[in-house]
Amino acid sequence: LTLETDSKYVLNIFKNHQKLEDRGFIGVPHARLVKCAITSFQMRPTQTRMVWAKGYNRHKGNEEADKLAGAAVKKEKASYVNLTPPPELNITGAKLSQMMQALAYKAIMVKKSSDDSMYRKRTDRNLMRIKNCVKDMFGYLPTSKAIWKSIRHKDFELKIQIFFWKAIHEAYWLGDQWINSNMRQELQERAICQVCREVDDMNHILTRCQSLARS
Ligand SMILES: [Zn+2]
Repeated sequence: LTLETDSKYVLNIFKNHQKLEDRGFIGVPHARLVKCAITSFQMRPTQTRMVWAKGYNRHKGNEEADKLAGAAVKKEKASYVNLTPPPELNITGAKLSQMMQALAYKAIMVKKSSDDSMYRKRTDRNLMRIKNCVKDMFGYLPTSKAIWKSIRHKDFELKIQIFFWKAIHEAYWLGDQWINSNMRQELQERAICQVCREVDDMNHILTRCQSLARS
């Protein structure tokens, strides 16, 4: 389906609909109408295209649309238009924007702390997680020193030892490390797993990710 419009505003909205959707349509004029139109196009089995046509140029479709709009404003009673987007599309949109909010919040928190203390915090948090896991499974709390020693055990190949060390220090570029206002938008999107739509950190990759490539 190809739609023609003489409105640059409408055209721009459809060009950038993904961006607007990710931001939960915040600050978009007529957000409810826009959201509804986009979701109804997305539900169509085939692609919808939108092209620009010059207005007031004896274009048949343009003249008919003007007639309908003219008749509509003269109506005594407004017609009922269902503006409730289908629930499944609505939920994913809301989820996504919630996640973006959480990430934005995190980005602010990350900015507040200096780099050095931030890395320390990440390392300490991971050591704490390991300690709690060991306690749950074996009934005792290991010291940080014991954890560092254990990852260097000779039974582990060197590259596995390095992996453990880097994972505990969060030296891999994963999850919220991609959230940085200096970084391009495409790169920042790497913070989220494209399959599961969760924050893509080591925990997600190793234990929760549904992506087949990682299992
Ligand atoms: Zn995943």
